[in-house]
Amino acid sequence: MNRPTKRPVNVRRPDIMEAVQEDLGEFCSSLVQEIRANGHVLNLPNTQFLLADSFGFCDGVRRAIEIAYATHRLFRDRRIWLIGEIIHNPEVNARLDAMGLRRLPWNMGDPLYHALSEEDVVIIPAFGLPMPMRRFLEAKGVQLVDSTCGNVVKVWSRVRQYAAAGVTSIIHGKARHEETVATASQARDKVPGAAFLVISNEEEAHLVVDYLLGRSTRETFLARFADRCSEGFDPDRDLRRIGIANQTTMLKSETSRIQELLHEAVQQRDGDDANFHAFNTICSATQDRQNALMQLLEKKPDAMIIIGGYNSSNTTHLAQIAARHVRTYFIKSVESLISVHDMCCWDFDSRSERHCSLPAGAGDASRLLRIGITAGASCPDNVIESVIRRLAELRGYPLPLC
Ligand code: SF4
Repeated sequence: MNRPTKRPVNVRRPDIMEAVQEDLGEFCSSLVQEIRANGHVLNLPNTQFLLADSFGFCDGVRRAIEIAYATHRLFRDRRIWLIGEIIHNPEVNARLDAMGLRRLPWNMGDPLYHALSEEDVVIIPAFGLPMPMRRFLEAKGVQLVDSTCGNVVKVWSRVRQYAAAGVTSIIHGKARHEETVATASQARDKVPGAAFLVISNEEEAHLVVDYLLGRSTRETFLARFADRCSEGFDPDRDLRRIGIANQTTMLKSETSRIQELLHEAVQQRDGDDANFHAFNTICSATQDRQNALMQLLEKKPDAMIIIGGYNSSNTTHLAQIAARHVRTYFIKSVESLISVHDMCCWDFDSRSERHCSLPAGAGDASRLLRIGITAGASCPDNVIESVIRRLAELRGYPLPLC
């Protein structure tokens, strides 16, 4: 028997939002507020902290966390599940775990999905959910609570428009990132035969260009992209008309370059660009944080600290930008700061944590050190505060409690 689909419930009700805002106070920081008010600078006798003009929680992340807290208040007597992580920040996720929210893996084949019932409440994370998973949960009759960010929904709408117009979506994103998987699923939701292709970087864009210009074979192309394109993808047919969309948190410079490369290739192949469509879907929060980091780097700090989850796409890109200019430490929390000579940082090459030390001379308290700090869109202010406090302590000037 087909059950009528339950509509996602709006949990951000005025009667509970006041309490939720109080709950979220735990992620705030009066020290960070003070630094903001002081021109984003904190001066100690031997250390200057330079905070980016835009950093930390974006509106979409704040809204998703509000939704998780509000759901917890509203459905006290029900099992509440989160699919994967609501956002990519270890501290926030640990807090939600401690509140008793349960996790569903990002894999619909897991037995936990089949054991769900109408009594269960399931929160869709800020990155959204692939359509097959959503349809499955709707058919199960669970109460869905949707925290998908509006900026992600805008990308979905673009991909749906491409599909309806017979245009193949080329999605610049991380092939296994939840948002990109969800975005790709939009292409075929209403148009079953629609095509999509995910490319993760400029190198892969060059491979598409090579195919468009007849410089590579069909076999080579399919061998490279078989696991990141729609089923039955035919490059001869499906690369005739292409439209670019991107994961909201990609590197702006890379996305622009990829658009240029594909645009030029279509123009060269066809003699005009009628078969090329593009739309910048990087969200403003990501752009603002990347721009603010570039401005901060112009002040030439001795080192940059980037704070956030290692699986956070926008934070990873901040770390990559900074690393091109200055010695950069990508850390997930204050726990990473053991001493000036022993910091646990993410290493992009080995894709694991490695131990490193602050720049030479950081152990010398008489030397002035200028440390730039920023944080990804999923990193709360209280985590930033604890990192600043620890660094100040390591430099010999612990900060008084505000
Ligand atoms: S980073 Fe952008 S897309 Fe992601 S939650 Fe924040 S505002 Fe939304």
